[in-house]
Amino acid sequence: MSTINVTRSSMPTYEEYCEEIKDLWESRWLTNMGAKHKKLQAALEEYLDTPHVTLYTNGHLALENVIAAMGFEEGSEVITTPFTFASTTHAIVRNGLTPVFCDVNDADYTIDVSKLEALITPKTVAIIPVHVYGNICDVDAIKKIADAHGLKVIYDAAHAFGVSYNGVNVANFGEASMFSFHATKVFNTIEGGAITFSDDSLEQVLYDMKNFGIRGPESVAYVGGNAKMNEFQAAMGICNLRHIEEEIEKRKRVVERYRERLGGVKGIKLCAEQQGVKSNYAYFPVVFDGYRYSRDEIFENLKANDIVARKYFYPLTNSFECYEDLPTAGTEKTPVAAYIADRVLTLPLFADLAFADVDRICDIILKEN
Ligand SMILES: *Cc1c(COP(=O)(O)O)cnc(C)c1O
Repeated sequence: MSTINVTRSSMPTYEEYCEEIKDLWESRWLTNMGAKHKKLQAALEEYLDTPHVTLYTNGHLALENVIAAMGFEEGSEVITTPFTFASTTHAIVRNGLTPVFCDVNDADYTIDVSKLEALITPKTVAIIPVHVYGNICDVDAIKKIADAHGLKVIYDAAHAFGVSYNGVNVANFGEASMFSFHATKVFNTIEGGAITFSDDSLEQVLYDMKNFGIRGPESVAYVGGNAKMNEFQAAMGICNLRHIEEEIEKRKRVVERYRERLGGVKGIKLCAEQQGVKSNYAYFPVVFDGYRYSRDEIFENLKANDIVARKYFYPLTNSFECYEDLPTAGTEKTPVAAYIADRVLTLPLFADLAFADVDRICDIILKEN
């Protein structure tokens, strides 16, 4: 039997992509905010129903730049969670800021807002919560706390493209949100990312940061870097965006199949669906807690059958060896995150995953001995 990977990149047909990139051979304009870049930006502003989208070569640089754009004083503290991809914590630290780790809640694995306020000190300047697996954070409670303490909120929305809450697209919460368009995400531009924001004044700063601060042929007004999305990336995005709703619908069906098979099994915990949230079904996390096999045993059993699941997120970022000397590190400070990280497995999930394969995966998980 063939290998089932944890994910499989969404792609348009070969013909559709070739059609989209054809004019690049005439224009010879391959990067630097060309026609495809402009077209994708406009299409995303419409799809995400948000006033500003700035495109980036990847999500991580987008996050690093938007944090830098806020102009926080070096050494300031930023509250975040360790139950995330390396990128979130790295982006904070690479900006000369100190990450302060808040625990997650055990219902949807996003930041536990009841533990947030106790972590605020006079040095706190921002909160960088992470929407995980397609679940969204308690955006209302976060806004209330942030407003009361004068803190900025930047969401890591890498997992949340296409998600909405009470009809509002997830791109519209906080000062800004970062999306990743990496090949493994629900929507991809091969590599890529974006910042969405509402404050008009952020636009010039983010543009300067991704394009060397160049304002004109003879004007360089800002010490910027280079993080521009190129035309081939943008073209992939234009194609993939045409199919996004169908893509999410197919993912939903796969998730429903998993839920039918694994829901209600003792020792297997699935994420509850969030009230008022339209999910994108980005990941299917399963927590093995008191089940006849441990998470690691399930992982190995699947692997022996050529099925690749992922311990995601494990390890927690506050236990990375690169943060050994960071005073705020240590998983004992985030016990729920530590508990989940030791027991969670994300199962293969992509739009074209066949029901027969879902069944094969579930049969292995459920087998009695
Ligand atoms: C993918 C991801 C990122 C980084 O995005 P890239 O586009 O790969 O740079 C950041 N945060 C989270 C939670 C992610 O999953």
